[in-house]
Amino acid sequence: MTLLAARGLTCGYNDVPVVQRLDLEVQAGEVVALLGPNGAGKTTALMTLSGELPLISGEVIFNGESTRAPLHKRVRGGMAVVTEERSVFMGMSTVNNLRVGRVDTRRALERFPELNERLKVPAGLLSGGEQQMLTLARALAREPTLLLADELSLGLAPKVVERLLRSVRDAADQGLGVLLVEQHIPRALDVADRAYVMRRGQVVMQGSGAELRDRVEEIEAAYLT
Ligand code: ATP
Repeated sequence: MTLLAARGLTCGYNDVPVVQRLDLEVQAGEVVALLGPNGAGKTTALMTLSGELPLISGEVIFNGESTRAPLHKRVRGGMAVVTEERSVFMGMSTVNNLRVGRVDTRRALERFPELNERLKVPAGLLSGGEQQMLTLARALAREPTLLLADELSLGLAPKVVERLLRSVRDAADQGLGVLLVEQHIPRALDVADRAYVMRRGQVVMQGSGAELRDRVEEIEAAYLT
């Protein structure tokens, strides 16, 4: 089932297009990576798909319907968004961060049992990786149907990144659809079923994760030109 699609989507800021005529799809149960160099328009595309930014032209289709609804309405429809800024309350303990998110704490901790030892610790004292696990645990415990994730791995150690991406892959294997904006190409392709490569606001390459894993050099070259 197609959870999310962009059809000829043009979007940007104050009617100035940054992303032009984007076509993409995310099905239930698949991880789709959105790759590309800095400034390619990945975050802009993701923010428009989430309803945080208005579109200029084209369509966003969510749950089978063309939508211009704002983010909070899409969230009610089953969308979860995790952005570069870790959305934890730094002064609040780990467990209270889960409680205030009104999620099933037990379910959240099942995905990230390593947080069990850190429940009483203020989130501000958690490592960056633990904060990101908390953010992801909270988002996934709400049982969304679709996750949009922007640079989950920013500034984190390779082992932590692997851990986060593995948990995203596991959730997709249980039926979640995932759109993953990611800087690190091989790591993203390791978990992705399909990927799109953007450059200067347009998709310049797309394919299955397996196909693109053999074309990493070509993708990297697209980053440089
Ligand atoms: P990165 O990997 O660096 O986050 P990206 O592919 O996510 O890059 P975007 O952040 O979507 O790229 O930026 C695409 C273009 O949009 C850039 O040229 C950027 O300068 C411009 N841009 C981003 N945010 C704004 C904004 N708030 N107002 C105007 N232009 C913006």
